[in-house]
Amino acid sequence: MSTVVCKFGGTSLADGNNIKRVTDIILADPCRRYAVVSAPGKRFSSDTKVTDLLYACYQESTEKGNCSETFAKIRQRFLTIVKELGLDFDMNPILDQTEREIEEKKSADFTASRGEYLNARIVAAKLGWTFIDAKDIIFFDKNGAFDEQKSYPLIAERLRKVGNAVIPGFYGTDANGNIKTFSRGGSDISGSIIARAVNAELYENWTDVSGFLACDPRIVDKPEKIEVISFKELRELSYMGANVLHADAIFPVRKGDIPIKIKNTFRPEDVGTLILPSKKYTPQGNLVTGIAGKKDFTVIFLEKSMMNSEIGFARKALSVLEEEGVCFEHMPSGIDTLSLVIKSKFLKDGVLDRIITKIKEQLAPDYVRVLENIALVATVGHGMANSVGTSARLFSALSEAGINVRMIDQGSSELNIIVGIDNDDYEKCVRAVYYEFFCANK
Ligand code: ADP
Ligand code: ASP
Ligand code: MG
Repeated sequence: MSTVVCKFGGTSLADGNNIKRVTDIILADPCRRYAVVSAPGKRFSSDTKVTDLLYACYQESTEKGNCSETFAKIRQRFLTIVKELGLDFDMNPILDQTEREIEEKKSADFTASRGEYLNARIVAAKLGWTFIDAKDIIFFDKNGAFDEQKSYPLIAERLRKVGNAVIPGFYGTDANGNIKTFSRGGSDISGSIIARAVNAELYENWTDVSGFLACDPRIVDKPEKIEVISFKELRELSYMGANVLHADAIFPVRKGDIPIKIKNTFRPEDVGTLILPSKKYTPQGNLVTGIAGKKDFTVIFLEKSMMNSEIGFARKALSVLEEEGVCFEHMPSGIDTLSLVIKSKFLKDGVLDRIITKIKEQLAPDYVRVLENIALVATVGHGMANSVGTSARLFSALSEAGINVRMIDQGSSELNIIVGIDNDDYEKCVRAVYYEFFCANK
């Protein structure tokens, strides 16, 4: 029998009714042997995710020495879930202990991880499956990176012994033995790690949409669904903000050539999106697969005659960033020009001014210009590599929509074209690109 690892996101597990839906899905296929769960998410749009309540608990407990006010809300949510599920499971002692530990440990990561921990205990109880704590099987090294060598054999051994298990997502143990979380949305990474460790045939990622859509559904109403997508396309799209799947979730399964399937908990009959490793992927015949983007970048534009023949120019520019501890997103270049695209949040508190001063001193450019409040929009698809005129279509669509393109970066893989535009034009830009490539009779 093949093994499927399934991960369920916060909305899928927001209340007792939804958790019942999830356990029905898990039990409907005996191949679904290991389930990775998130903390309860929003039940309605103005609701607060349990993870956000937990961060508020941490805040409250650092300010007041206890978190009783916010923790009461969390307690209520979990007790209601247990009641809705009709479980004979007294959560009060576990919740008391959790509250005490949050107050004692004074760790943001430990506190945030409790949403997944508590929810996994409930899902395991409902299924009658073993609960395996992520802290005992997922480890980080001393640099804070996921420790594959230590974790994979342990996961494989522990899970093989039990046959079926529920594992909380989002966290593991750091090199000092403390709980550490991945970044937000990180349960997707936990699921991918478990799938790789047990060499699953498939990693199912269950969420609240019927698959990966060609662009953000909050910007375009009912965008087309992507049926099949390659790991490379997924990486570009998720890194650029299509947050259906955490951008780092791809790495563990990619190494094991394990396909991912995005499925909708609320419409399990829908086929979803299949994400395939390069080996198993055949081009789907479409020009553009998807569009994604992010706001709030700064572009430092440098111009210097004969830059191309000046040995070490780019290295010097990057070492200025390194000295300031700043990483860059993109670095498009021309014969005499170089642009550094950086997340604006890294340039606060005088960092930008220091970088510009150092660049002027150390690189002596003819011209330096800083563009702030820039959004990046990526148009992604394997089909673009073999097709003449895609960029021309893209740029004429943007110009028709009255969008001023401030920067262009066409990746060397020809898999994507990234444009930099003003933050205010972001939504308009995504719509213009979508209508150009997805709506035949626009
Ligand atoms: P989960 O809680 O299940 O992990 P997320 O909220 O992290 O779910 O991701 C699913 C959400 O991602 C969708 O509800 C949708 O609003 C958003 N989203 C953004 N871009 C896309 C896209 N290209 N395709 C599908 N969903 C998208
Ligand atoms: N609960 C965590 C978050 O809200 C992790 C996750 O849901 O994947 O970010
Ligand atoms: Mg998510």
